[in-house]
Amino acid sequence: MKELDERIINEGKVIMPDILKVDSFLNHQMDVALFEKIGAEFARRFKDEAINKILTIESSGIGIAVMAARYFGHCPVVFVKKNASRLVNGDVYQTKIHSFTKDQDYQATVAKNYLNEEDHVLIIDDFLANGEAVSGMIALCQQAKADVHGVGIVIEKGFQQGRQRILRQGVRLESLAVIDRFEDGQVILRKDETCI
Ligand code: 5GP
Repeated sequence: MKELDERIINEGKVIMPDILKVDSFLNHQMDVALFEKIGAEFARRFKDEAINKILTIESSGIGIAVMAARYFGHCPVVFVKKNASRLVNGDVYQTKIHSFTKDQDYQATVAKNYLNEEDHVLIIDDFLANGEAVSGMIALCQQAKADVHGVGIVIEKGFQQGRQRILRQGVRLESLAVIDRFEDGQVILRKDETCI
């Protein structure tokens, strides 16, 4: 997606050796028109999959997942809760996830009511780093006996381990932009992902 690539290059700020901030359009302020195009692109890439549920994780995945869901017919979005409050009790699936940005573990939770063996799931998230969040969501789907048809990521950091980790689990992965590396504070994208 040319527009996404340009926004990453022009507005992304490399704030640590391996962390990119894209608060101006994705993680704080949300560019709804761009989200719309991102949703449409996920729908195009996964159009041959019979998906009836989108699973994401709070909070940055939610907006993108909602936009994508509009293209999949009657397709609810379920978001995994981090460190669920006392409001969530009883019948839940849980798994531990290590947060890349906060460098701490949290208990990821989803209610059994909203994920089950009849679900054909597309997992969506904003970033892919080491694949912890996505692997956690796959684990929750396995607990629920739901089928995972694929993973859609807005920005993959190709120099980290997430891709290998997901593919090793036999799950299809589609990333709209892949960062090859950071060089002198600039983002260098992988070329083959920039021409779509
Ligand atoms: P992973 O679980 O794949 O190691 O990391 C992905 C999760 O951490 C995403 O849900 C995202 O919220 C966050 N994350 C990882 N790397 C970055 C980054 O460079 N920038 C931002 N804004 N979030 C990141």
